[in-house]
Amino acid sequence: MPNCFTHPDRESETQCPYCAKSFCDDCLLLHGNLDRITCTNCFNSIAGRLRSSISRRRLFAVAGLLLGPYLFYVGYVRGSDTTTALIGIACIIASAVNLARIKTYRDTLQFRPYTHTPNPSSAKSG
Ligand SMILES: [Zn+2]
Ligand SMILES: [Zn+2]
Repeated sequence: MPNCFTHPDRESETQCPYCAKSFCDDCLLLHGNLDRITCTNCFNSIAGRLRSSISRRRLFAVAGLLLGPYLFYVGYVRGSDTTTALIGIACIIASAVNLARIKTYRDTLQFRPYTHTPNPSSAKSG
């Protein structure tokens, strides 16, 4: 194993799958539901992208939730305008999709320290 890219004096634990550099366990973390291994550098750039996606999608979701019911009301209840009503429904569906995506992104942003040996917590008394 080559040494850690950030700490040349330390032996690396594994490779980051994103940048393909080798890192020690201090420079690695696990993120998302699937505990994907990544180095802290790559995680920071992934997290930055996800955070801007989240704020963009949140805007769309809010707009859709305001506009959708309104268009549905104007089109269906007031004017029997099926097209407008359908656009309203589409807005609501798009909002739901955006909200689901935001949740996925939030899950991906979860992280914990990298541990190469999963330690089953040994019951200690005292
Ligand atoms: Zn990396
Ligand atoms: Zn390191």
